[in-house]
Amino acid sequence: MSDRTAMPMPNMIDATIAAGTSETEIFNCTWSGEICSIEGVMYLQCADNTRFRVAQKVPEWKEGKRSWQIIPSTDSTAEVSQVTLVSSEELPSDAEVADICELVGRVIQLGKRNALVQFKIKRSEQKTLKLTLLNSQNLNLKLSQLLKVQAQRVGKFLQILSAVSLDENQGSGAENQITPISILPTVEPAKKLPSPETPPPNDAALTALLEETKESGWQLAPAIKRRDGWEWEAVLPTTGKRARVLIKGEKIKVYEYAPEIKEIVDLESDREIKFDAQNNVNTRLIVRPLGAAKGIGASCFQVFIGPYEIVMDCGTRPKGYDPLPALDHLQNPNLLLITHAHQDHIGAVPVFQARFPGVRMICTPGTREIAHVMLQDCLKVQQMSEDSPELFDETDLERTLFRLETQPIGVDFEPLPGLKVKFINAGHIVGAACIYMQYGDRSILYTGDYNTTSSRTTEGLKLADLPKADMLITESTYGADNHPNRKAQESALLEAIAEVVKKGGNVLVPAFALGRAQEIILAIRTSAVFHKLQIPIFVDGLVRAVTDVFRDNLTLLPQSVKNFAQQKQEPFFDPNSPSPVIPITSPKQRPLAMAKPSVIIASSGMLTGGPSIYYASTLLERENSAIFISGYTDEESPGRLLQNLNTGDTVTLDGKELNVRAQVRKFNLSAHADKVGLTQVIHRVNPQHLILIHGSHEALHELSRAGDLKDKYYIHIPSVGDEIVYGQAPGHLSARKLVQFDLPTEFEVNVEAEVEGAWIRIPEEIVETDPRWQMLAETGVLKAKWEGFHLKLSPLTQRDIVVEEAIASGEDCCAVCNFFRAGKCQSEESPLFSFSVDPTSKCLEFIRKGVVVENKVEPEDEEEIFAEEDEEIDDFYLLPEDEN
Ligand SMILES: [Zn+2]
Ligand SMILES: [Zn+2]
Repeated sequence: MSDRTAMPMPNMIDATIAAGTSETEIFNCTWSGEICSIEGVMYLQCADNTRFRVAQKVPEWKEGKRSWQIIPSTDSTAEVSQVTLVSSEELPSDAEVADICELVGRVIQLGKRNALVQFKIKRSEQKTLKLTLLNSQNLNLKLSQLLKVQAQRVGKFLQILSAVSLDENQGSGAENQITPISILPTVEPAKKLPSPETPPPNDAALTALLEETKESGWQLAPAIKRRDGWEWEAVLPTTGKRARVLIKGEKIKVYEYAPEIKEIVDLESDREIKFDAQNNVNTRLIVRPLGAAKGIGASCFQVFIGPYEIVMDCGTRPKGYDPLPALDHLQNPNLLLITHAHQDHIGAVPVFQARFPGVRMICTPGTREIAHVMLQDCLKVQQMSEDSPELFDETDLERTLFRLETQPIGVDFEPLPGLKVKFINAGHIVGAACIYMQYGDRSILYTGDYNTTSSRTTEGLKLADLPKADMLITESTYGADNHPNRKAQESALLEAIAEVVKKGGNVLVPAFALGRAQEIILAIRTSAVFHKLQIPIFVDGLVRAVTDVFRDNLTLLPQSVKNFAQQKQEPFFDPNSPSPVIPITSPKQRPLAMAKPSVIIASSGMLTGGPSIYYASTLLERENSAIFISGYTDEESPGRLLQNLNTGDTVTLDGKELNVRAQVRKFNLSAHADKVGLTQVIHRVNPQHLILIHGSHEALHELSRAGDLKDKYYIHIPSVGDEIVYGQAPGHLSARKLVQFDLPTEFEVNVEAEVEGAWIRIPEEIVETDPRWQMLAETGVLKAKWEGFHLKLSPLTQRDIVVEEAIASGEDCCAVCNFFRAGKCQSEESPLFSFSVDPTSKCLEFIRKGVVVENKVEPEDEEEIFAEEDEEIDDFYLLPEDEN
C-alpha cells in the first residue's frame, strides 16, 4: 500500500515520552486532501475545502485524496500561510481522518491572552521550525517551557488539543498533564454591561475594610467590574480617609490611601537636604528629563521642588532594546504623578513600582481605568516580542494597578506637606491631564500631551484653566505644523470612506487604540451618509478592549457621547444600528471582515504591530480598497512608509512582498496641539524657563523659533540627564541676550517731531547702563522701520549698507542668494563656499531667495542654531505710550 517518496522524512518517533527527557524530537503533521492547480499555482485542498498554497514543488503528483506528511508555515496571526509537502500515502476515498499535528517544542512566544503560542521545534540535521498555534486562555503556558503538543487543523489554523510538559523540574506523572481543551471555535459573546443579576459583594468589602483599618462607617462608591473580580473606592466621611478594596474570588485586598496632610510641616528642622546655593527650600526648582528629550518615547521627568524629589510620568519607548527612561538618576523619589495612559507616559510605571515600592503613584480616575487595558497590553507585547525585554510581570502589573491612587481633574490636593498639586484637563485623550505643582515660591507646569481643540471623546484644553508658572515643560509633537481644520478633515475622511465602500471595497483605518479609534467610530455612527449605506464597521485589536473601557465609563466622556446612553443606545457597539459596530474576537474571523464592503478600524495606528498589519497586507493588493492613515506616524514606521507609495510599487509588510494597488491617504485627526496651540499655551503660562520636549528635532527647533518665544523665555531643549535649574540661563544664550532678559524692556522717551524727521531722546541713565543701547550707540548708523505701531531700530554696519544697496539694485547677486548668510557663502557647490563674499558679486550656484531648494540642509543641533542667531545684533522696539 505504502508508496512514500524519497523526500527527506521528518523524524517521526512516536514513542511515549517519559517526563525528564530533554529535547526529544517529534514532528509529525498528517493532513488529508488532494492537490489541485489553479492558474498555475499548486494548492493542497483539504476535506473541508480549505486550500493551502504549496510552498515547494510537489514530490510526486498523485491524483485523488491522499494522506500527506506536511510542514506548515504560520504567520504572526497563527494562520497557516502555506505548506511544504514531504510525502503522501494512499487513502480510501471514504476515510474520515482529522488533520493532526504532533510536535515537541519549546514555547518561544506567547500571544495576547495566550490565544497564540509560538513553538521552536528542533529537528536533527534539518531546519529548526517555528510554528504558531492557537491555544486557549486556560492552558497556562510559560515561556521556554518544553512541551509535547497535539493539535488539530480547524480551517486555516492549528488548535492545540493537549499539551504535556516535559520539563525536568516540573515534578512528574499526572501533574505534568495540562488539561486538554475544547477545539470549538472560540467566538466570545459580545461583552455585556455588568449584569444586575450578579450583585457585587458589598458586604464582604465593608467587612474587609473594618478588619483592615479597625474603623467603621466606610462608605462604598459603586463597585467596578474587574477581570474576575470587583473593586470599590471607599471613603470614611468622618475623617476624609480613602481606601480601595479588591475582591477576586477568595482573595481580598485593601489599600489605604496615605492620609492627606493639610498643614505645612516645617521640614527644614528634621531633614538634612542641601537645597540650593542659599540652602533655601522655598526657592528650589530643578528639572531633569529622563526620557522624551530630543525625541518622543519614555516620557519621564525628575523634579526637585522644595524638599521633594517628584517623578512625572514613567513611559516606555515602543520598540528596540532600550525601552526604559533613565531611571538610574532617581535618588529617593517621594511621589510619582502620571499625565495619561499612553504607553510612552505610563509603560514603565510597573517598573517604577517594583524599584521604589511604597512610593505613592497618582493619576486621574480616567487614566487609571485605561491603564488597566494599556498596561496589560504592554505586558503581552513584551511577552510576544523577541526584541523587547520583559520589564515586569503579572504580579508587578496587578500591584501597580491596585496601588495607583486617583485625584479628580481641576481640584487642588496636597500629597506631601506644603506641595500643592492640580490635574488640569489636557484634552488629549480620556483622563489626560497637565500637572501643576507649587511649593514655597516656586511653581511648575508639565503639560504631558495636550490638544487645544475638542474632539468627540475629549474636550480640548482651555487656556483659562492654566495658571502662571516659573517653569513650563511642554510637549512639542507638532511644533513645526499647523493643523488643517479638524471638522473639515473628519468630513473628508468620512466622504473618502463612503466613496470606497460604495464601489464595493474595504477601508482600513489603522488607528491608535486609545482615542482616535473611538472618535472614528462615533463620527461614522453619527454620519447621515453611513446610515444610508448600511455597511458594517469592524474593530480589532486593542481598539476593542479600550472601547469597552470607554463604554463602561461614560461619565468620563463629553455630553454628546453620554446622550447616546440616555437614549438607551450603545454609543460604540450597537448591533442594531444601520452601520453595526462588530468586534473581531479571534484571528479566524478576520477574513470575514474583508469579505464584503466594510470599514475596519484596527490597531496599531502606525502599522508597527497588532492586527492592522494583517488587514493592510491583504487590502494593499486590492484595487478597490483603501488604507486611510488618521494621525501621527513615526518617521520609520510602516504607516509613514505607506504614505509615500504609489500604485504599482512593491512593499514588504508582515513578511510578504506586496504589489500596491489600493489607495493610501492621510487625514489629520491629531490629538495634539499644533504650533498655534502650543504658543498660546506657552504665553498663557508665561514661564521664566520654557523646556521643550516630546518632539522631533525639527518640531522642537521650529517651535523654539516661533514668534517671539526666544525673546521672552529661557528656552531649553535638553537631552536626557541634563539639569535645568531655576534661575540659570541655558548655556547657548550669549551674555548680551541675558542682559535682555534681566533689564527692564520699557522706559519713557522724549520725541520731538520735525518736518523732515524726529528726535528721540533716550534717558541718559539708560544709554549708560543698558549695554544694548551702548551697542546701538557704537555702531553709529541705525535703521528705523515701522512695524504696526512699533518703530523698530536696528544697528547698521558698513556691510549691511552694501547689502541693502545690492538688494535695492534688483540685480541677481549674492545679497539676494539663498546661500548668503551672515556675509558668507553657504553653498557647498560653490567655489566660494564658507568664504566672506562681496554682496554685489554672483557665482554659478546662484539661487534667488524664496525659491524652494530641494534637500535643504538642516543645522545639526541647537548650539549651531542659536550660535547663528547670536551673530545678529538684537533689534529694539520703541513703544508708543498708549501701549504701556
Ligand atoms: Zn499621548
Ligand atoms: Zn506622548
